[in-house]
Parts: sequence; C-alpha cells; structure tokens
Amino acid sequence: MFDIDAIRQDFPALTQHGDTERVYFDSAATAHKPRCVIDTLTRFYSQENANVHRGAHQLSQQATSRYERARQQVAEFIGCQHNELVWTKGATEAINLVAYGLTAQLQPKDVILITELEHHANIVPWQQLAKRTGATLMAVPVTPAGLLDTAQAEQMIAQYRPKVFALAHVSNALGNINPVKVLLCQAKQQGAWTLVDGAQSLLHLRPQMADLGCDFFVFSAHKCLGPTGLGGLFGRFSCLQQLDVFQTGGEMVAKVRIEHTEFNPPPSKFETGTPNISGVLGFAAAIEYLNNLDSAALAAHERSLMQYLVAQLSDIESVSLLGDMQHNVGTVSFYVQSEHPYDIATLLDMEGIALRHGHHCAQPLMHALGVNGTVRVSLAFYNTFAEIDHFISALRNTLEMMAP
Ligand code: PMP
Repeated sequence: MFDIDAIRQDFPALTQHGDTERVYFDSAATAHKPRCVIDTLTRFYSQENANVHRGAHQLSQQATSRYERARQQVAEFIGCQHNELVWTKGATEAINLVAYGLTAQLQPKDVILITELEHHANIVPWQQLAKRTGATLMAVPVTPAGLLDTAQAEQMIAQYRPKVFALAHVSNALGNINPVKVLLCQAKQQGAWTLVDGAQSLLHLRPQMADLGCDFFVFSAHKCLGPTGLGGLFGRFSCLQQLDVFQTGGEMVAKVRIEHTEFNPPPSKFETGTPNISGVLGFAAAIEYLNNLDSAALAAHERSLMQYLVAQLSDIESVSLLGDMQHNVGTVSFYVQSEHPYDIATLLDMEGIALRHGHHCAQPLMHALGVNGTVRVSLAFYNTFAEIDHFISALRNTLEMMAP
C-alpha cells in the first residue's frame, strides 16, 4: 500500500515551511532526504564518530564494519559485487575517474563516442581524455525533438568502432530514457569500453548492472535520497583492474617505498584519503528506506503523476513540451515562445514553486534544439497531484501576467 501522506511525513524538508505551501519540483537537481538519512548522519557524528580502516579501537572497528556493510547494501541495490563499487564524491568525479584511468588504453586513431544530450559531466572529461591521447571525440546527434537518434547511434558505432562509448541512461534536461541496453551491446561487440551515466536513473528505474550490461555505471547519492558529497562508480571487476589509478595517497596502497608503491586491488585502489564515512552510512539508510517501500506502487504513483502533469501542461496553449512524453521518467521540460525561462522560474518561485530553468548543464543539447533554455519540472515519488494542480494554476497566472 502506497500511503503518500505517511511518506511525506518521512521527509522533513517537505513540511518545514509552515503555512506557506511550497512545492518542490527540483528533485533532478537533488532529492529531499528521509528522516532516517538525517538521523543516521546525526547519530554518526554524535555517537559513533571514528575513522575507518585504521584503528584497533572499538569505535574505529565499528565504523569500518558499518561502512563496509553499507557498501554491500548499495552493491546489492544495483546488483553488483561489493568489490565492484567504488565510492566517489559524485557522478562527476566517477566519470573523471574512468576517463583518467583509461588514458593509457587510448591511441590517436581511437574514437570516443558520446551523445549530444549529455550533461556536461559526461562531456568535458571525455574532451580532456581526447586531448591527452590524441583520440577523436564524437557525439551521436539528437532528433529535432531532442531524443537520441538511435539509428545514427547504431550507424556511428558500426562505422567508427569507438574505443569508448558513454551515454546517459536518462536525460537530465528532458527526462527521456535512452535505449541503453541495445546500444551498449552493439558498442561492446565493437570492443568499446562502455559507461552509463545513471545520475538520473538510479532513483526512478533502479537499474541492475547485469541487466544493463555496461562496464561502468556512475551515480550521485544526493539524487537518490542520500547525502551530498557522495557518489559511486560500478565497474566490472576486470575493468576496474585495468584502469589506472586516479588520485593517489594513503588508504589505497598495499606497500609504499620512496621509489615505488604497490596499490590495493579495486575498489580500494581508487579510494584515497579519509572517505565520506557519514555520507556512505547515510546513503545506506536511504537505500534501506527505498527497499522498504513497495517499488511497484511507487513507480505507478510516479507514472500517474507524470501523465497528469503532461496532460495539464499540454492544455496550456503557449507551452511547448520537449522530448517524448511516452519514454520519460521524473522530468518534463518546456519552453514558452518569447518568454525567458528565467522569468517564468522566478515568478513561479514567488508562488512557492521550486523548479529549474536554463540549460541544465546540457548546452550542446540546448544548442541542437535551438532554444536558450527550458523550464524543467522534476518530480519524485513524494510529490502529489495537489502539488501539480497548484503548479499549473501558478503557471497559468504567471503566463497571463506576462502576456503583452
Ligand atoms: N549526469 C547527470 C545526468 C546529471 O543530472 C548530473 C547532475 N545534475 C550529473 C551527471 C553530475 O552529478 P553531480 O553534480 O552530483 O556530480
């Protein structure tokens, strides 16, 4: 049974604004945190604080075993082994780690293939890899509607036989779900290293690594009910073994002499310095929270919210929706001819609606679509139909007010 009222009570940030009704439609930027996550952080710092992997003392041993148990829990959530999950600062750092770690694997004749709809985090690290190695960076174009051109993707994979193929599971700007499985399979057949940017899919689609079939998958905890400053990289163990180390220092080493160092096996090889212990414990609490919800009911609620939102937006004549509303999750983007997205977002904020405007760190996509930005509405399972009604009425008022 999916009890939305009870669920909302679990999220203090949804009920903190007293009488003024606030609508949070910016979960793609960062999701709210359930109380169990906040409590876990507080408990760690007030009762359990100790560094991991170092001390003989009880607190340190306890912190270490909780920290490693948390890795196991999150690994189970995405369907991988605990030694295939590397903690990072976020999705951005995870992509940088892979792009840097592949440097020795690429040659000037090689092609790195991404897509035009990527977040900047899945573009710039590959540009830098291309610069370091002399390889060529190419991008699969989008259709005029902003969807990945899958026919072009297939053709480019076959023609260029990329050494790396990296793409988003779900577009952060439009919310569209990419057909990653089939494309990854083709890229793999051509010998590519494959990476999926799962920053926008983890919460909504709960991808399983074996099912996706990628070499690497990256995510950010804060977009999946967890704390900020933490993310993860799944890597097939054999792929992680072949990556060169990214940042170096303490913790990740087996033996250090002045002349040379032996690194630990993965995942430790990529985790240097004191990790984000509280963040990892908090994220495990978020995962446990999600595991205790009825995932089918939750997905159905999200789907109905999305259908309702799209139907309501489609009723407003001046609103142009972008993307494919049959294949999106979490996010809807729109623009209004002759109105700047910033003005719409600012006026909506005055009506208590929190959402995003602009390029959403996807400038190449905006450029391809010929828009200077969009207004982005992003939902999570804790949102309600009443919030959509409030938003639609505020949007109608705003557009009326802006009309010449
Ligand atoms: N990729 C996508 C698709 C994203 O939406 C984001 C965050 N907006 C990132 C990567 C980067 O995530 P983070 O800023 O948490 O590292």
